[in-house]
Amino acid sequence: MKTRDIERLYKEYILPTYTRAPLCLVKGKGARVWDLEGKEYLDFFPGWGVSGLGHCHPTVVNALKNQARKILHVSNNFLNVKQAFLAQEISKAAFPGRVFFSNSGAEANETAVKFARKYGSEQGRYEMITMRQSFHGRTLATLTATGQEKIQEGFAPLPEGFRYSDLNDLESVKKQVTHKTAAILLELIQGEGGIRVAAPEFVRELRRICDAKNLLLIFDEVQTAMGRTGKMFAFQHYGIEPDLLTLAKSLGGGVPIGACLVSRKIQKEILTPGTHGTTYGGNPLVCAAGLAVFKAIQREGLLQNAVKMGEFLGRRLEAMKARFSFIREVRGMALMRGVELLIPGAPVADKAREKGLLINCTQDHVLRIMPPINISKKILTAGLKILENTFEEIGNG
Ligand SMILES: *Cc1c(COP(=O)(O)O)cnc(C)c1O
Repeated sequence: MKTRDIERLYKEYILPTYTRAPLCLVKGKGARVWDLEGKEYLDFFPGWGVSGLGHCHPTVVNALKNQARKILHVSNNFLNVKQAFLAQEISKAAFPGRVFFSNSGAEANETAVKFARKYGSEQGRYEMITMRQSFHGRTLATLTATGQEKIQEGFAPLPEGFRYSDLNDLESVKKQVTHKTAAILLELIQGEGGIRVAAPEFVRELRRICDAKNLLLIFDEVQTAMGRTGKMFAFQHYGIEPDLLTLAKSLGGGVPIGACLVSRKIQKEILTPGTHGTTYGGNPLVCAAGLAVFKAIQREGLLQNAVKMGEFLGRRLEAMKARFSFIREVRGMALMRGVELLIPGAPVADKAREKGLLINCTQDHVLRIMPPINISKKILTAGLKILENTFEEIGNG
């Protein structure tokens, strides 16, 4: 069995919703992965940010093994220990509140959209303001929340009530606030949008607007949470708290989980019994993995590691920018970095892959680099060396 055999099966049996690299991964350990032919790669974009602790982190694997021996699934009309503990862990790490668990980032945001609609329903408020270049998921509501036309094309009629403004442009937000506005939703660092960081003054002003007008402020931290920016959650860099926080990706350390945390400050009960639900969401298996992720971050001092390695990564990328004229800008925080090029990025990512380094390209020109937060300096240096070699070859034509 070879990669091309698997490619053939994909052609025949998998809907072609993705442009896929001809790379079939069969094994992973930390920041390293191996393909079907046994070739090794350094993975600086592990699972689109899902494997934030690297592949097959032993604490996560053991938690899954232990839980799998006891009980895999408990329906949501009963109690399960792991769900209760993980909700407590999230709330303690973020802010006092209660959690609804789902299976993905899109569903976590879908929960936030439904919450905002119900919250505003008595006063006829249902509109949500989101940012252009954002990404919130692929369900009908979340692709409408996503401020990118290419993602919405062909799916009309879209749900009503979404209005778009520009990240870091306060006036553009104020223009969209009406008597029907219920919430403002944004990513603190736009991931798919090209690693664009929300400015502190902008975010704090949004908090003021929401307080003054009784709107919900919702942060989509599906990509930025769990230590990625050097703090457990990106909002902790901003000195304010949202009303709702959505999580997924690295929360599960590799298994599918989503979560929407609702602040205790919202005193009215909004999503009451029967108003929202999920069959799988928050089952013991995935919550055991989530608990293991928190445990590993704390025990291994991974926030400190993300800060330290993040500084090193930022410095090295800035040095490359000074060296290669086709690098336009380096953006991001800690271990979430974007390198905007003046040339198409996909061929650069392809070339890096051929040399044994996995990175991502988004928005045509932005290389996205998000190594695991427990990465060692040695592996980080080795990966950056491959990136630099790739740039050298491109620079030489
Ligand atoms: C990936 C992502 C989502 C969607 O998550 P899925 O698990 O793919 O549904 C939503 N918001 C952000 C910021 C993301 O990066």
